[in-house]
Amino acid sequence: MVDLCCPLRGVCDRACERCYHWFPCLADPARRSSLLLKVALVALHLVYVGVVFLFDGDLIEKAQEEPWYIALYLLLFVATLIQYFVTACSSPGYVLDVMRAVHEANAMFMNRFKQRQTASSKNGGFVVSSDSNQSGRNLLGSNPTSWSKVVMDLFPPGTSIRTYTCAYCNVEQPPRAKHCHDCDRCVLQFDHHCVWLGTCIGQGNHCRFWWYICEETALCIWTGILYITYLTADISRAWWKDAVMIVLLIFLSISLIFLFLLLLFHSYLVLTNQTTYELVRRRRIPYLRGIPERVYPFSKGACRNMYHFCCARSSIYDLERMPTAQELEEKSKPFTCLDAFTCRCCC
Ligand SMILES: [Zn+2]
Ligand SMILES: [Zn+2]
Repeated sequence: MVDLCCPLRGVCDRACERCYHWFPCLADPARRSSLLLKVALVALHLVYVGVVFLFDGDLIEKAQEEPWYIALYLLLFVATLIQYFVTACSSPGYVLDVMRAVHEANAMFMNRFKQRQTASSKNGGFVVSSDSNQSGRNLLGSNPTSWSKVVMDLFPPGTSIRTYTCAYCNVEQPPRAKHCHDCDRCVLQFDHHCVWLGTCIGQGNHCRFWWYICEETALCIWTGILYITYLTADISRAWWKDAVMIVLLIFLSISLIFLFLLLLFHSYLVLTNQTTYELVRRRRIPYLRGIPERVYPFSKGACRNMYHFCCARSSIYDLERMPTAQELEEKSKPFTCLDAFTCRCCC
């Protein structure tokens, strides 16, 4: 009996190889599923927006009368998709990248130091140090420092570095970093691994992620309003159009509730300078053990937390140190009436 599957399989394999040649990302199973999710998400957005424009004749008329209304809606739609892709392609802040940057800065510092020494020996051994250029300085200080020392300085004295060495990457983790098994790398201020975005959410992209949820929530609300306006309009139309719109509206409402709760949750995390991982696994994280539940160890006050989250975290080299016992004691003091006047929770 002739096996008909073999030639077919050969054709399929050749087609796949050609696809992998043109689109290398398809060869990686993790990126392939992530790519499919991205395509599905864009398709879902197009269906929701396309249906309302196809079914609602009044909306087209309204677009001609008030073009700014539809232009703003379409602008939000495009901005949300752009924000999605920007967040998905941004680095969450990998520990290895920061470690590499520290090593490079150290190497640069040592080179400059050697050059200066050579120049001084040629000039008779006398050096007037007027090097105000700080480009050779370490990223995190003024002297060349090993990565282990950089990490150790962020923890209270007496901490064993072995406790904070990742068993998978074999690198020393700064406070708040965690190994992500999906990315197979340690992430700074690890929040969670987002399946929809296909990347981790960490120090490098948490702000972008918050803006993405915000835009997605606004888009859902506006789309819901357009759907409800269509369904409540007093015009005759086919029953199946109503059925399609009602089904889509139900799914949209569920998504909106989920997005709104997610936005509130992440806003709370931002105001208290916490991550999802720290909140959920608080009792299992070694550096948070023994700290009372109501104390936010990394919080600098709501206003400063917001400022750092939005503005000051553009650099992934901004490593946070563990608070000292004295700082924790200050933070665990109960609130008094005087604290309300001095805005203790804000500043
Ligand atoms: Zn790791
Ligand atoms: Zn990850």
